Parts: sequence; structure tokens; C-alpha cells
Amino acid sequence: MIELAEALRLVAAEAKPLPARRELLALAHGRVLAEPVRSDIDSPAWDRSMMDGFAVRSEDFLAAGDAVVELRVVLDLAAGVTTQEAVLPGTAARIMTGAAIPPGADAVVPVERAIDGTATAGVGRCVRLHEPAFRPGQHIARQASAFAAGDEVLPVGSRLTAAEVGVAAEAGATHVVAAAKARVAILTTGSELVDAAAVPAYGQTRNSNGPMLAAAVALLEAEPIPLGIAADRPEAIRAAIQQGLAADVLLLSGGVSAGDFDLVPEILEACGVRQVFHKVRLKPGKPVWFGKCERGQGPRTLVFGLPGNPASALVCFELFVRPALGMLAGLPESACHLPRAEAVLTAGCRGAPGRPVFFPCRLARRQGQLEAEPLRWTGSADLRGLAGASGLLQIPEGAACERGDTVEVLVRTPPDDAT
Ligand code: AMP
Ligand code: MG
Repeated sequence: MIELAEALRLVAAEAKPLPARRELLALAHGRVLAEPVRSDIDSPAWDRSMMDGFAVRSEDFLAAGDAVVELRVVLDLAAGVTTQEAVLPGTAARIMTGAAIPPGADAVVPVERAIDGTATAGVGRCVRLHEPAFRPGQHIARQASAFAAGDEVLPVGSRLTAAEVGVAAEAGATHVVAAAKARVAILTTGSELVDAAAVPAYGQTRNSNGPMLAAAVALLEAEPIPLGIAADRPEAIRAAIQQGLAADVLLLSGGVSAGDFDLVPEILEACGVRQVFHKVRLKPGKPVWFGKCERGQGPRTLVFGLPGNPASALVCFELFVRPALGMLAGLPESACHLPRAEAVLTAGCRGAPGRPVFFPCRLARRQGQLEAEPLRWTGSADLRGLAGASGLLQIPEGAACERGDTVEVLVRTPPDDAT
């Protein structure tokens, strides 16, 4: 049995970024760039109006001071409409947000500044504008003010969330080069297990870990490959493991503790998966197994044997599989773990002798302070107690924490705001 910190170190040492691939931008959300994105154009590519209003010459306003400026409208420019015609002294162009500033104009006065009912003045009519706080250049996004042609708009290591996909599109990237999406095979073992669609007979248990792990994988931008349920028979487990070893990661649930039918470690080794560790000093999740299958220069598979008890499986996923998937995706280790914070307990919480306990809690921010309310939870088989848990308290071994004590917590979802 090893310490948690050592186990995390061993996982991190094996979880290297997957090979980079050229991907369609439209399919690349969630990926991490292995090459930067550069722009092929200035953005904006021309001076652009940021307001609906009138494109004007600054000199007309600077000369007027606080007074109303009357200008003859000579153009009407919707977004997408351009002109070679110049705005001359004493004239203005009606202009909409997103349209190119016409030659001669160097500022935009918003339509709200038009007075005496002249806001809708069309070509040939006069608009009266009152803009005492006029600034030359106002309400114009200058050419290349966001970025210039050739600029690196996204560096290596950027994760493509919606904003990054948008800026890549703005820069003209139809494809990006990013670490491949991890394919994660999920195999649940146990002769007692039945599909969630079935009503379990006496002695049977619904397979909750299969759907849970598939969801956890998908939520981390990896691709779950469900392999179904294997009964606790060596041939059944071996066949399914061999199938799973084609993936980048194989997650097994069950069969890694000390029972007579806990066959998984033995069969994994027989299938060429080398154990890195088995058993970690932690609760729940002590029986967790980790290993790797190498094939010369070929792709390797990381293998996690998660305990069958559902809460243990999920805690081990959060602690070990989550950072591994992040690092395979190309993120630095520091960005891959659940964030840690300190929180004040709203009720007492007992630890366990000899092992730190990860205990589900609800987090709330009250008057600037993070508070953790331990949830009703009966232990490693109690998944319901984890549903709705925004955090996992880390109770040190043997500790009996009291209300008001400060404890470390892993943050799963942002805390509620309480008053
Ligand atoms: P094991 O780790 O195989 O010894 O299983 C420990 C406990 O977790 C047993 O009560 C199993 O029935 C239960 N269990 C194992 N796999 C699953 C699963 N996929 N879904 C729900 N419970 C499970
Ligand atoms: Mg079992």
C-alpha cells in the first residue's frame, strides 16, 4: 500500500500527451493545441464602426466645442456596405454597427446623440448632433486593433473552449493541430451486475459504475467506449480486457480487492499490463490498481482498476483518472487536478484510523468565507451521498474535526453563494 501523494506522482509520470493530430476546428472543442494558431488577416481588417450612428470628421466637432453640430448626410452604410466616396467637411454618413468607416471620417457619433428628431435623417437631409464629450476616433475599432496578420492568437497549450474556437475562426483557422482525444474503454466486472434497464433479481445489483464512468469521461472531453459487463470468470474478463487494451485508457470497475473472485490484477498481468501500484492509503478507494501496457514504439494503454463500490470508484476517478486524462490531452499537471481550497466545517466530521477520508460535502460562500457542510453519507457504497456534493473534504487520518475547524477540500463544482 502506498501514500496518495506517491500514487499521484506515479500516475503523472505515465500520463504523457497523446500524439498531436490535425483536426477540423468544428470538431476540436475541448482539445489542447500542440501548435499555435496564427491569423491570416488583420482583425478588424478595416476600421469598423462600433455603434449605430453617424460617421463624422473630428474637425467639425472640435471646432464646435459644446455646441450642436449640423451635418448633411451624404451616405447610408449598412454593415457589409462599403464606399469609395469620402465624408467631406460639413457632412456625415449614416452608419450601422459593423460597417466600414468611409474615407474622410474618423469618429462615430451614436444615433442617441441626434436631436430635434433628426436621428433618422437619410441621404440629402441634415442631422443635428450634440456630443459635448466628443473624442477624435471615438466608437471606431481600428484595423488590427485585436490582432494583426501573422500574429499568434492562440499559443501551444491553449484548451479550445468556446472563446478559443471563436478566435481561431476569426483568424481563419479551419483546422488546428491538437493532442488526440483520449479513447477510454470502460469495463465493469461482477457476476452480480445487471444493466440499469433491468429490475435486479434477488442478489443482483444494477450497474451504476458503467454509466457513471462514461459520463465522467465525456465530461472531461475524452471519448468513452463502454465495453459492458464481464462476469467474474477469467475467460470473460480476459476477452474484454484484450478488447479494452486497444484504447488509450482502460478503466475497469470491480474485482481489484481481496475477495475470492477479485481476478482483475492477475488477468491484467497475464494480458501484458504491468502493475505500477495496487492499493493506496485512502478511504474510500483503497483497492485501486494502476498499470500500463506498452507495445514497443506503438501506442500504450494506461489501465486503472477502480474499486467496484460506486462511491470508491468515483473518488478514485476524481483523484487518479481525472489528472491522467488532462495530461493525455496535453494540459500541465497543475491544471488537471480538482482545485483545492480551505473551508470551515459547519458540522463535525470523523476521519478513519490509518487513512485519510474523502468525505462528500456541500460548499457555500458566506460573507467571503468558504464553508463546507458534510453530507449524509454512509461510505463507499453510497453513491447518493455523492450526488450533489460540490466538494470532497479531506479529513486527515484519525482526525475528529469539529464544527468551525478549517479543513482542506477538493472543489468539484463552484460553491453556492449564501448570505
Ligand atoms: P468489488 O470491488 O468487485 O469487490 O465490488 C464491491 C462492491 O461494489 C460489491 O457490492 C459490488 O456488487 C459493487 N459493485 C461492483 N461493481 C459495480 C457496478 N458496476 N455498479 C454498482 N455496484 C457495483
Ligand atoms: Mg466484484
